[in-house]
Amino acid sequence: MNQSNTVTIPLMTEARYQRERQRRNSECQELWRVLDRVMDPEIPALSLWDMGVLQDVESCEDRVLVTITPTYSGCPAMDQMRDDIEDALYRHGVARVQVKTRLAPAWTTDWMTDKGRDQLRAFGIAAPDDAPEHAVDDETPESQVKCPYCRSDNTTRVSEFGSTACKALFQCQDCLEAFDYFKKI
Ligand SMILES: [Zn+2]
Repeated sequence: MNQSNTVTIPLMTEARYQRERQRRNSECQELWRVLDRVMDPEIPALSLWDMGVLQDVESCEDRVLVTITPTYSGCPAMDQMRDDIEDALYRHGVARVQVKTRLAPAWTTDWMTDKGRDQLRAFGIAAPDDAPEHAVDDETPESQVKCPYCRSDNTTRVSEFGSTACKALFQCQDCLEAFDYFKKI
């Protein structure tokens, strides 16, 4: 099936809109920018914000409270994320930092920013929205995940699991590059 004639208009989902609005309305703009330099331990090309992990930054009395939602519960990178957030804020002169983990609602690829999706592709990983909608529920989303290198959708799935469980391994039939696809969850 050739989908190249389909026009897709990217729309920001409600969840993403709420997240952006929360940041925009926050009184801690400077601290959000400090945390923009904290990268996701598993995909160092993306900041925790662009990954959709960083949820809130609040300044409460004597401390800064940071709320994060790991990409999946029991995420082994949790401790490192906490350390990196604390380090960044301490270096900025914040005296006390508390990192709170929020597991509900669960993290969704929906929360990844547009910039994050572009960075993912630049890093050689197909973004969650590089697969056509119908393939997501399909048992065999064998193809049509757009290649992050040449944007061809003439691709085949090599393995259900890529470098981590949340990714699948694909190969492009046009440029022959193998790439991970970040599954939509
Ligand atoms: Zn390609």
